[in-house]
Amino acid sequence: MSESLSRRAALKKLALLIGVAGAAGNELPRVAHAAELPHLSPSDPNAMALAYHESAAAVDAKQFPTYKPGQTCDTCLQLQGKQGDAWRPCNLFPGQLVNAKGWCRVWVPKN
Ligand code: SF4
Repeated sequence: MSESLSRRAALKKLALLIGVAGAAGNELPRVAHAAELPHLSPSDPNAMALAYHESAAAVDAKQFPTYKPGQTCDTCLQLQGKQGDAWRPCNLFPGQLVNAKGWCRVWVPKN
């Protein structure tokens, strides 16, 4: 009888642990896949502060004299993600994607 009770107690503990683990799993933040992240808007205050443009071709070189043709997010050290993707993560705008053909004033050449 005591063996039966201890087995029952062990099963109850196991069920409790599974329940706790399941509840904890539901509360963990969901890790978003890069493709699910929102696109950075040029009107976002942080984007505006760095003069982010979705297209480097639209950059006014007189207004932004540091811009030189050929500078795009795709050639910037800060761009992350998969080569060839149109929208990719940037170290400066966590949680959002920038256009690989875009540009901002802190463009840094890849080594
Ligand atoms: S830091 Fe580089 S990759 Fe990020 S938005 Fe500016 S130019 Fe693009």
